[in-house]
Amino acid sequence: MDLTFTEQETAFRDELRAWLSENDPGEPPQTGDDGSYGWRRDFQRRLADAGWAAVHWPVEFGGRGATLTESAIFFEELARARAPLPANVLGLLLAGPTIMIWGAEEQKDRFLAPIVTAEEIWCQGFSEPEAGSDLASLKTRAVKHDGEWVVTGQKVWTSGAQHSKWCMLVARTDAEAPKHKGLTYFLMDMEQDAVQVRPLRQITGEAEFNELFIEEARIPDENVLGGVGNGWKVALTTLMNERAGLAFFLHVRLRQVLDELIVEASERGLLEDPIVADRLGELHAKAEILRLTAYRGLTAIEKYGQPGPEGSLTKWMWSDTNQQLTQFAADLLGPEALDTGSRWSYELLRARGNSIEGGTTEVLKNIVAERVLGLPKAR
Ligand SMILES: Cc1cc2nc3c(=O)[nH]c(=O)nc-3n(C[C@H](O)[C@H](O)[C@H](O)COP(=O)(O)OP(=O)(O)OC[C@H]3O[C@@H](n4cnc5c(N)ncnc54)[C@H](O)[C@@H]3O)c2cc1C
Repeated sequence: MDLTFTEQETAFRDELRAWLSENDPGEPPQTGDDGSYGWRRDFQRRLADAGWAAVHWPVEFGGRGATLTESAIFFEELARARAPLPANVLGLLLAGPTIMIWGAEEQKDRFLAPIVTAEEIWCQGFSEPEAGSDLASLKTRAVKHDGEWVVTGQKVWTSGAQHSKWCMLVARTDAEAPKHKGLTYFLMDMEQDAVQVRPLRQITGEAEFNELFIEEARIPDENVLGGVGNGWKVALTTLMNERAGLAFFLHVRLRQVLDELIVEASERGLLEDPIVADRLGELHAKAEILRLTAYRGLTAIEKYGQPGPEGSLTKWMWSDTNQQLTQFAADLLGPEALDTGSRWSYELLRARGNSIEGGTTEVLKNIVAERVLGLPKAR
């Protein structure tokens, strides 16, 4: 693929750069999870007012109708400006595109606009205590009663649930059907007593994700997405978008952290050390491979019309490289990198979850082996 930007793409990038330099979000407030979340929500509102919040969405749904390359430029520039991801990132990248593909007209009219403005935040209620990688074995059940669905079960790892109005919920609606066939995808209102959200505190001290306890929650029939029993296919649309969307933001962030580590090494006179130089050189090469592989993934999306299994490759490469990078920072900087609350200790601890969130590395390797390389299935 040709990596030179066209005139239109350069103009898009320059306009965005100018906007970002005039609308610098500044540093996140040091007022805990809620403060930082409010800061990201405000920033999304400013993006939305200027028409930048949902660049990859069609204009008719409040987007900018950006091409795939422009959308990649958007995420790269956001990271380059050290701006945060929009607060409603799961709505913009996952719920919105899934509703556009599977939703009835009334659902598109009802749900899409408030995603863009961050008026209604979304979370993803897929994983359960005994169903993560093997999502299709989930047990949360939904039973139809008097024209509405009654849902009972438990979800876990639900990022941003404490701020969310809506949940992309996959539940079992037919216990007799084969496990992939008995599922249905719901748009569940979180604002009901039957849904209890309990934040889980992570090793970093933050509480990004939660447990959801659902006890006879009600979902009207019109909030089924993509048809009863079709939940597996609808969920796959969400999962494919999850792995494709963030690659461009993440590769720039990784590059920034690497550049900061190179500065730290230089200040300590360590760049002459052949072992340090060798490790930094290797990380530089991996960061470049990640950038180029992310661009190559765009070609696959152009070919299939929506994200394909290639997104699994960049996700795996990114988590692997980020963990190596943050571990090397700790090796290089010594105990000061491990001080509680230090920048580097945060990076090191947060990176632990990279090889789990959005699909574990082992599962991504299976997908790459079977669906990208065409190797025989292990089972
Ligand atoms: C920061 C973070 C945010 C998250 N946010 C959300 C969210 O918003 N919504 C949501 O629904 N989920 C979310 N998750 C959950 C995430 O998607 C799951 O943790 C992930 O799918 C793995 O599921 P599990 O934890 O049940 O592990 P398991 O599936 O039980 O896996 C345990 C181990 O077995 C390995 N394994 C499993 N199956 C195979 C296989 N077939 N071949 C080889 N090895 C295998 C895994 O790689 C892993 O090492 C989040 C996770 C994290 C870390």
